[in-house]
Amino acid sequence: MTSPTIRELLEARRQPTLSLEFYPPKDPLGFGILGGSIERMRPVRPDFVTCTYGAGGSSREFSFAAWELLGRMGFAPVVAHLTCVGASRADLAAQIDRIHAAGIRNIMALRGDPPRGETEFKPVPDGLAHASDLVALIKSRRPDICCGVAGYPETHPEAPSLADDLRHLKEKLDAGADFVNTQLFFDNAAYFRFLDAARAAGIRAPILPGLMPVASLAQLDRALAFSRATAPQKLRDALQAPDPEAARRAGIDWLVAQIDGLIAHGAPGIHLYILNQAKTILDPRLAQCLARWHTASS
Ligand SMILES: Cc1cc2nc3c(=O)[nH]c(=O)nc-3n(C[C@H](O)[C@H](O)[C@H](O)COP(=O)(O)OP(=O)(O)OC[C@H]3O[C@@H](n4cnc5c(N)ncnc54)[C@H](O)[C@@H]3O)c2cc1C
Repeated sequence: MTSPTIRELLEARRQPTLSLEFYPPKDPLGFGILGGSIERMRPVRPDFVTCTYGAGGSSREFSFAAWELLGRMGFAPVVAHLTCVGASRADLAAQIDRIHAAGIRNIMALRGDPPRGETEFKPVPDGLAHASDLVALIKSRRPDICCGVAGYPETHPEAPSLADDLRHLKEKLDAGADFVNTQLFFDNAAYFRFLDAARAAGIRAPILPGLMPVASLAQLDRALAFSRATAPQKLRDALQAPDPEAARRAGIDWLVAQIDGLIAHGAPGIHLYILNQAKTILDPRLAQCLARWHTASS
């Protein structure tokens, strides 16, 4: 039986959704660790799970293996991320078909980043230049696949302005995308400003806020470096606690406050960039926070 698409889940939801993002292991041994980590997270019962593709140089085959593992472990629906990096239109068509044949009905359609050391994204010959082209390809080839796309509360680093970025976000939705998942942010005001601007630009799709737990200043700085998001000084100060356990607790407290604020103001769900870390999601304060609004629909 095919599991519901994210669009169907969002339309039918009576409470905000909870989704978790994983990344594929870098070597075959990592799959055992990932499986163990997922097993420990089972009580959280996310509404759906996503797994990245090609991010940080990870292998394409390992992404496929990770999607299959998530599906086998009963974490359905699975959202497969797919990027245009290094792939021709024909390669992408083959990958879309392979994802479909694996029973996955949700794709996060992304352009991807330029290779390390390069500042400009250049598609390969007969490749796709924008995520909107990938959405159009997916929808023309497999209309039953639900597409998510990326949105940037603090504006995509290459975009000349928020208005330009929103125009391109709207192009992705006009090409057939079903929902938006945001880049991580540490200040809820950025999400609400973005939401207002998106609605004013005619974007009606659900916009799922993406949040990342951070347990140290070093982790925060790594997250800011790859996302180009910003962080309030108050969070930096809290993470500067001399004791690593106190810093970890401060990071969880920040995340809990973000989640509570977003849910209280009507966010359609919470997407956690959990990065395979069972310890974080099982932290009692985070578990209590999730239990306040997420009674696990499955
Ligand atoms: C939720 C989420 C998940 C992600 N998962 C992954 C992953 O699994 N693997 C990975 O490698 N990366 C991932 N990324 C990172 C993403 O690939 C990068 O942020 C990338 O730089 C942009 O991808 P995009 O899909 O937003 O691109 P696009 O929507 O194509 O936008 C990229 C830039 O081009 C501009 N633009 C778009 N269309 C046009 C146009 N027609 N003309 C001119 N300019 C245009 C946009 O305004 C933006 O500045 C993820 C990001 C997010 C937010």
